[in-house]
Amino acid sequence: MTHPCLTCGACCAFFRVSFHWSETLTTSHAVPEDLTLQINPYMNAMKGTETKSPRCISLKGDVGGVISCEIYANRPECCRSFSASFEDGTVNERCAQARISKGLTPLALSSWVSTE
Ligand code: SF4
Ligand code: SF4
Repeated sequence: MTHPCLTCGACCAFFRVSFHWSETLTTSHAVPEDLTLQINPYMNAMKGTETKSPRCISLKGDVGGVISCEIYANRPECCRSFSASFEDGTVNERCAQARISKGLTPLALSSWVSTE
């Protein structure tokens, strides 16, 4: 079964992706600073997600098609903690919201059942 996120990417092209600036410096997964911009004294955002039509600068591919995060190992904590619906057995309404905004069906429990 292909992980549903690998043919989605909707959340990376829907929300502002912001995090404490120190994630660009001090964490084990330092987010590349040149891919971020400062939005207030405490927070940076991934470039491209601060606009009215967000799309993270690190998102490569087509939303709803083959897609990936170019800085997966260094993505910010907010991306790491954003679960796809039913990945852990619970609904993530924000996952559904992002998918619907891109014309995709919200994930269901059956999305995680392999047919192979
Ligand atoms: S919207 Fe949900 S399914 Fe799509 S990439 Fe984000 S977490 Fe994955
Ligand atoms: S850093 Fe990666 S996971 Fe986070 S919003 Fe950008 S493309 Fe998506």
